[in-house]
Amino acid sequence: MPEGQLSLFGDGALAAAARESKLESRRRRGGSGAGLRAAVLGSGSGGNATIVESADGCLLLDAGFSCRELERRLEMVGRLAADVDAVLLTHEHNDHSRGASRFARRHQVPVYGTRGTYRDPELGGLGTLARPMGPGVPLTMAGFRIKVFPVSHDAREPVGIVVESSGGYRLGLVTDLGRRTAEAWRSLRDLDVLLLESNHDLDMLRTGPYPWRLKERVASARGHLSNEEAAAGLDELLSDRLSWVVLCHLSQTNNSPAFAAAAVQPVLDRRCSRAKLVVAEQHRPGPWLDVGAGSGWHRGG
Ligand SMILES: [Zn+2]
Ligand SMILES: [Zn+2]
Repeated sequence: MPEGQLSLFGDGALAAAARESKLESRRRRGGSGAGLRAAVLGSGSGGNATIVESADGCLLLDAGFSCRELERRLEMVGRLAADVDAVLLTHEHNDHSRGASRFARRHQVPVYGTRGTYRDPELGGLGTLARPMGPGVPLTMAGFRIKVFPVSHDAREPVGIVVESSGGYRLGLVTDLGRRTAEAWRSLRDLDVLLLESNHDLDMLRTGPYPWRLKERVASARGHLSNEEAAAGLDELLSDRLSWVVLCHLSQTNNSPAFAAAAVQPVLDRRCSRAKLVVAEQHRPGPWLDVGAGSGWHRGG
């Protein structure tokens, strides 16, 4: 819908249109099948967003692209903005929240964030669309059970997210963390899909062009996870049920997809894991990652 058209509708009509569209989207996804699907719409310091859906509903984890770009990338994976039931923000950094406010208002979608995340003035205009979430407070929405847990990063109150479908399939997202903490890693056990930061190659960071202060920040305990740390972290999280490992938030300057995969794949090989490794890209969405897909899936995406 062209932006100008929004003014033709009152708030009630807009909400009703959004509800109708969500019902249609649910019909398209199919009413049966308890599985879970996800697609990373893009990941890196230029923007992060991931769509997760089941037969019950559809969530957007982070909204770090402009509203228009989020809409475009959703279309690239066969979805519409109107399909999204809620947006969840890991933290307020621009590469995770850039489009949240506009997307939420334009499509009448609630946005969940921690109290700290909502202290960011950019997110101030959400009004009643702003909803609270926090560690230790389980949430249920769009048919998913959701738990968030604190991560070590230089934002106000950053979190990682675990979502569980009604069929018990679990996806965990953990990016933007300087180090692995016991609490985070406890929360990430028994996943079917793991989206894990693999930000930099330590040697590339050390010898690369970043100013010294920035190198220190990235490598600090409140910065970003290196390929080596991602590999060690995965080793601790591997289980028989893990089907997909997606390496996320790769630095364009201090990493390459080949380096990240070369650090992590040996862990899967050594442990004879059946999990498939995918490296998320900044400039285009990745493939749909399916777990436990029943006959109810609409496979057009
Ligand atoms: Zn980030
Ligand atoms: Zn961040």
